Amino acid sequence: EQNKISCIGCGVEIQTDDKTKLGYAPPSALEKDKVICQRCFKLKHYNEVQDVSLTDDDFLKILHGIGSTDALIVKIVDIFDFNGSWLPGLHRFVGNKNILLVGNKVDLLPKSLKQNKLINWMKDASKELGLKPVDVYLISAEKGIGIKEVAEAIEHYRYGKDVYIVGATNVGKSTFINRLIKEFSGEEEDVITTSHFPGTTLDIIDIPLDEAHSLYDTPGIINHHQMAHFVSKSDLKIITPKKEIKPKVFQLNEKQTLFFGGLARFDFVSGKRQSFVCYLSNLLNIHRTKLENATDLYEKHVGELLQPPGSNELDDFPPLVAHEFMIKEGKTDIVFSGLGWVTVNEPQTKVVAHVPRGVGVIVRKSLI
Ligand code: GDP
Repeated sequence: EQNKISCIGCGVEIQTDDKTKLGYAPPSALEKDKVICQRCFKLKHYNEVQDVSLTDDDFLKILHGIGSTDALIVKIVDIFDFNGSWLPGLHRFVGNKNILLVGNKVDLLPKSLKQNKLINWMKDASKELGLKPVDVYLISAEKGIGIKEVAEAIEHYRYGKDVYIVGATNVGKSTFINRLIKEFSGEEEDVITTSHFPGTTLDIIDIPLDEAHSLYDTPGIINHHQMAHFVSKSDLKIITPKKEIKPKVFQLNEKQTLFFGGLARFDFVSGKRQSFVCYLSNLLNIHRTKLENATDLYEKHVGELLQPPGSNELDDFPPLVAHEFMIKEGKTDIVFSGLGWVTVNEPQTKVVAHVPRGVGVIVRKSLI
């Protein structure tokens, strides 16, 4: 094409269609002689990083690139959506590089949750997924909890090398990077630059750590299993907890069902009468019904009584898929990726978890 416009900051091709993609600039910016993308604009004027997401292809290039460098990798996950925010391909490119795993949004967890238990679970779950982090940290990027400790750990585990920060979209990576910038550059201004990722046209944020080494922020990667991709922006606000989760307890007999809005469903199929504890966004409506009526109720009332999703979003919303579990031991969590979890208290309990096709359900020993 003749009239491609490039950002004067990072060189990326400018587009005005999608705010969440690389190279976005508002249409008004095109009237100027020199066009700068929104990402560079924010960086330049506010020393602030904004996240953009990547295609899978670009992601593979990044992974290849990171794979061939000698660096510390800092991987950030959303502890409220551990599996949904996991980067499935990363372990194949890591080699013997150190990985520091950082769990964000610790402010959302109920105070009754022991952080050590969560850290141990994260270590075990990582191992099962093929990664063995050198260390695991819990932080709240938003509240500024644990940032100093992670900054110190980065300095320690990088052993004088470069650092790459990777993470799925929506885990809070930008918020985290903006905190790190303050930790590493203090009050100094204009220390941050962008550079092209080797072999690609992707620009990455470069925060100098010493004369020869930097911390690089890679663009956020889309994990297609994230619940976030199946709901609208406004629904995402409902399902994403904003503050500490208040557990909700339900006394159920067998053959009873709970609906979490219209996004997921939990059937207590058989077992002793018991209490189930739901750890979900305080704003998400929980509706109880009889198991035998549940399918009918969903068909008739999804989008109204059972929402989100709203009635105008149903066309794009995948059907719910059932996952059956026989819980042998008491105190087990059924985790609905991106929504939260339900603790089953009694052994010998049969449950079915229904989630949108593509979204994961996992079972773990209860964290609380
Ligand atoms: P990115 O897509 O990974 O760069 O994520 P952002 O930094 O844009 O954050 C995604 C969402 O998570 C935003 O709504 C943030 O307000 C929220 N968020 C980020 N960090 C935290 C945190 O520590 N706690 C909570 N509760 N929310 C956070």
